[in-house]
Amino acid sequence: MPDYILAIDQGTTSTRAIIFDHAGSIVQTGQLEHEQIFPRAGWVEHDAEEIWRNTREVIGQALSRADITRHDIAAVGITNQRETTVVWDKATGKPVCNAIVWQDTRTQDIVERLAEDGGVQRFKDVCGLPLSTYFAGTKLAWILEHVDGAREKAENGELLFGTTDTWVLWNLTGGTDGGVHVTDVTNGSRTMFMDLDTLSWRDDILAAFDVPRSMLPEIRSSSEIYGTVEASSLLREVPIAGILGDQQAATFGQVAFTPGEAKNTYGTGNFLIFPTGTEKVMSEHGLLTTVGYKLGDGETHYALEGSVAVTGSLIQWLRDNLGLVGQASEIEALASTVDDNGGAYFVPAFSGLFAPYWKPDARGALVGLTRYVNRGHIARAALEATAFQSREVLEAVNADAGEALTELKVDGGMVGNDLLMQFQADILGVPVVRPKVAETTALGAAYVAGLAVGFWKDLDELAGHWQEDTRWEPSMGEEERERLYRNWKKAVTRTFDWVDDDVR
Ligand code: ADP
Repeated sequence: MPDYILAIDQGTTSTRAIIFDHAGSIVQTGQLEHEQIFPRAGWVEHDAEEIWRNTREVIGQALSRADITRHDIAAVGITNQRETTVVWDKATGKPVCNAIVWQDTRTQDIVERLAEDGGVQRFKDVCGLPLSTYFAGTKLAWILEHVDGAREKAENGELLFGTTDTWVLWNLTGGTDGGVHVTDVTNGSRTMFMDLDTLSWRDDILAAFDVPRSMLPEIRSSSEIYGTVEASSLLREVPIAGILGDQQAATFGQVAFTPGEAKNTYGTGNFLIFPTGTEKVMSEHGLLTTVGYKLGDGETHYALEGSVAVTGSLIQWLRDNLGLVGQASEIEALASTVDDNGGAYFVPAFSGLFAPYWKPDARGALVGLTRYVNRGHIARAALEATAFQSREVLEAVNADAGEALTELKVDGGMVGNDLLMQFQADILGVPVVRPKVAETTALGAAYVAGLAVGFWKDLDELAGHWQEDTRWEPSMGEEERERLYRNWKKAVTRTFDWVDDDVR
């Protein structure tokens, strides 16, 4: 058996290839950012061809930095930004338009049209999700309605749909020359088209969205051999043996397999996942029901999820649109120039509000401003927004679960920010814990691929890898915690109902 597993993490801001050893430790990494395209207010796109080029290149970077070849790689696992929608021509391999990214809100009209008959919860019992611009379904419907010639070609069976796991897998396995057109159950569960019980596409939902079934990938488990890498790749003939959507992958990488454990990932957005085991739980507090994982022929494991659209991307926005900092990591030093938020609260409802509100017509607001507020307060308010939003989601999880979580495992790009993590512990009132391997998303993808080829034996073996790195204990008084949170809740209400027909 070769010594390593290679995970491809096709994220929202970048694509990484990470090589893991048998202990689950990182050996080497390749990484490239791709362009974020904002053609209009509310629209967010990626160039799928750029993502594929970057994928090939980061594989090369990781292999050469580790000074190994394909013979040292036992299997490849894929994890991906979820919901981001790619439609391409089967014969040419060319996307028909840019990928529509999960944060994109252009499909609000389609959401409203579909909700006329039965409301936004119309399909929830089947797919676990409310109608929302967030999921892949309305994005695919939009492409068929708006891209010239797309509907006709789709009806003729000439177009393929996929989230970026499927796009990368299809290309890695040969593309126009025999590419494998498959997704896994976790990504399937983010389209709105998949039945959470049978794990198959639902013809009635496809009919409502007017999407031809022939475009859709085959749904498979998260851990099995889907195909092998094509001949021109540096990884030729290596089996591709695992796929998990990024948040499910991070949960798997945190070895949070049992009900009651939870992880919160701090990336472009924030995603708290609460595994519910083999039981499918429907939330009464604004959470989504989603598939956690399914290993080969094993049972389906479900989870509740609280998704927050804008957290790390607010820091990017302060960097790119306002020039408040030169790099995301500088936000901590700027926020540390002040002792508190100075009364300012920043609600980044740039894509409406996701969990637990699901209010598409909210828009961002910076409130509580006085002449006293300076750059430092705004930096602090931006970081605090991430922590407040996570508390709202955690409260929903606690309400659905009927008991309170006693600590929170965290990961993602923002967890290097000490000020944020301390404030998070303070505002939650429970400890926040970061593991040694913070790249839990890639690790989760490596794990499912490694399990499929026998590189790792079972979940117990994986659980033995997890090691604590840092723990932040709450130190804020109860009164201050509740005062800040009450003000935050008040700030959130100021963002509601902003979008009218003429504000779009
Ligand atoms: P994704 O997987 O969603 O692409 P990552 O987990 O790589 O995202 O995290 C990147 C995000 O984290 C970016 O939005 C960036 O603004 C934010 N970020 C990175 N470092 C810091 C930091 N030190 N403090 C605050 N935010 C940060």
